Order: sequence, then C-alpha cells, then structure tokens
Amino acid sequence: MLDLQLSTDLMNYKLPHDTLIRLSGVLSEPRRSTTPGPSVLAFETALLAEGVCTLTAIRRHLAQTEKRGFSAIEELIDDLINAFEVCVQGIYPRPEYLGDEVDGEMGLTAVDAVWFLVLLEAIGLEVDPSRLADSLIAQIEDRTLLTSTEFDILHYRLTLGKRRIRLNTDTAQLVGQHSLHKHKDSIGNRYTVCSRGDLPYSLEISGRKYREPKPREAVTCDLCGMLYVTNHPGDARRHKATHDRVVRRLNPKPSTRLQKRVASGVAGELVDPDAPLWMHGEVYERAAAFRKEFGYDVIQWPGGSSTCAPSDWRGHLFAGPGGEIAGACAFMHTTSRKAEGEWSLQWIWIAPSFRRKGLLESRWTDLLQRYGDFDLEKPLSAAMVAFLWKHGSEAQRASLPVF
Ligand SMILES: [Zn+2]
Repeated sequence: MLDLQLSTDLMNYKLPHDTLIRLSGVLSEPRRSTTPGPSVLAFETALLAEGVCTLTAIRRHLAQTEKRGFSAIEELIDDLINAFEVCVQGIYPRPEYLGDEVDGEMGLTAVDAVWFLVLLEAIGLEVDPSRLADSLIAQIEDRTLLTSTEFDILHYRLTLGKRRIRLNTDTAQLVGQHSLHKHKDSIGNRYTVCSRGDLPYSLEISGRKYREPKPREAVTCDLCGMLYVTNHPGDARRHKATHDRVVRRLNPKPSTRLQKRVASGVAGELVDPDAPLWMHGEVYERAAAFRKEFGYDVIQWPGGSSTCAPSDWRGHLFAGPGGEIAGACAFMHTTSRKAEGEWSLQWIWIAPSFRRKGLLESRWTDLLQRYGDFDLEKPLSAAMVAFLWKHGSEAQRASLPVF
C-alpha cells in the first residue's frame, strides 16, 4: 500500500549550488504585483486545450510572470524540474500521415506542468496556477482514482500557503563563516537562508499559512475501542463516526420509529423480511456490539440498513421503557440437530444500563411461543446461564453445563 499524505509536511529537495544562489537572489527581491497579461492567459488556454506543453512554452510563460533578476527563472527551470522530479517527456506534432517523421521537443503533460507551477508558487516565485488548477480539478471531477500528482492538484486550495519546502545545495564542501538570514515577502511567505561565507547552501520557505504540525500519536479510545492517530483530520472523522455509533448503542435515545412499531404490542419488535430496512440496520448494530463485547470474529446478522436479512433469520429489537432501542437478539433456522429444522437463538445483546431490568424476562414466553422450545447457541455468558436456570424451559435447562 502507498500511504499518501497531504504535502504540508516539510519537503526536502536538492539543487545545484549555483542555482540555489541565484534562486535565493530572485526571492530576496521585492515581489512585483502583476495582473496576468494576454500571453499568460493564452498559455493557460493552450495548455488545457492540448493537454501538454513544451519546456520552451513553460519557460516563456514563467519569464512573463516572474521578472525578478531579469527573468533569471528561465535559466533555473531545468534544475527545478530535476529537483522536483517532474516527469519530462517528448512532445510531438501529430503527423499528417501515420509513419511520417516529425520533430518534437521536450515538454510536460498539463497535469505535471500545473503541479510544477504549484511547487514554484509554494517556494515563493511569482506564478499563479490557480486558474489552471481549478480547470484540471473540474476535468477530474468524475474520476474515483487519481495519480499522486492529481491528488496534490485536487488539494491545491487546501494546501495553498501552507507548505514548507527546504532546498539544499548538492555541494558538500563549503567554507567560511556560518550565517542565517530570515526575511518575509509582501504576501507573507517566510524565508530562512543558511549561508557559509555569504553563499547560501540551504533555503527554507514556509507559506504564509504554514503552522508547525501538532504531534501525532496512536491512541485507543477507551469507549469505542478504536485505534486512531491524534491530530489527523481523516482519523478524527473516522473515529467520530465509530464513536457516535457506539454511543448510540450504549445510551440509546427514545426512537419514535420503534415507539410506533410497538404501540400495538411486542410483536412490533419482530424483524423479519417484511420489517423495514432501518430495523434490520438496528439489529446489525447490536450484533456488532455483541461481537465487540464478547470478542467474536463475525457479526451474526446477515442484514443491514440496505439489505434485509434472509427468511431463515429473525431479529427482535427490545424497546426500553422510554421507547429506546435497548437491545436486540437474533434467531436462525437450522437443520444441524433436527432433520425437520428448529430455531436457535444466536445471540442477545442489551445495553448495559438496561440490563437486569426484566426486558428479556417479559419477552421470554412470547419467544417460546414463536420459536418453540428453541436451542441456544453456545457458549453462554454467566448472566444468560443464570437467566435460563430461572426462566428457561425444561429442555433449555437440561442443556446447561452442570458444575
Ligand atoms: Zn471513541
């Protein structure tokens, strides 16, 4: 598996020493606010229309937008493309006839070109990939699978101004006095330049919205049991969903839907193939709670909020005194012991605060009438064994372990 994270963590790249020195010079000059001229917009239109651009075109484009240092950027582009490991490939005119020889030149696909411009913007160069990024995001709107480059572009607005990038020289031999210089540009980008003998060897750029990431650690929630990573937005969302589900099972609120079902009696608690889907879903939730509490491998309820359990399964939701979904149980029809078949109670789960309140006792006679002298799936909890000694049928008691 490839674990892809948003690139707001520190990213390190290596540049030739001369290029780093010249880039530091460009970035130390004041920014010039420019509005995009016709040639900039023409480049963007052509890139989107063709889906590719040549290095010559991207060089010309950047010379239009980043004019500091007499448009020195033009001469730095190749090294920056190498440093960021942007994929360069041949770009060719379509031949008039198949088999014709054509002359091409090196270039980038639109996605790689935009990603490159996004990184150049992130290191403080004057280029605005926002229109291109928005157009590409619209183009991939319907796709469910993305490349890492597309993933980065998709998050353009989310990561804008929040990146931290360090560019180091590839030269190891440096002499002279060590010095550190910090400066900020007119839009809030912060630069830290480390030099020896007045020659920069490391340049770090933090976007205007960059914040030191909070420490992350793996923790297990005491209540829902989920293992998650702190200060991780995706994990926080996943944990909240699981946590809320567990809380809904443990501390159920009165359910108007269940109240309506049981208004005419306990038969309204039955979950058979004719019962609404939400009831199948609620039985599934309790089956999941049962599995979690007793550490079983599988959830014993073949239904859910989008599928009815098949007809050889029956569930029952137990309404609490206030109409809460206090618990549930499930029966399965089986021929494992008797050729003619019989019903067997697979599991029963009641929220802790509703236990020992007579919920099961008050339904036991009804269950015996409905399912006959049913069998119970072993092993049984100590509480269930105690219950059966008191309320079980003769056959049910006979099946209990004797100590
Ligand atoms: Zn939790």
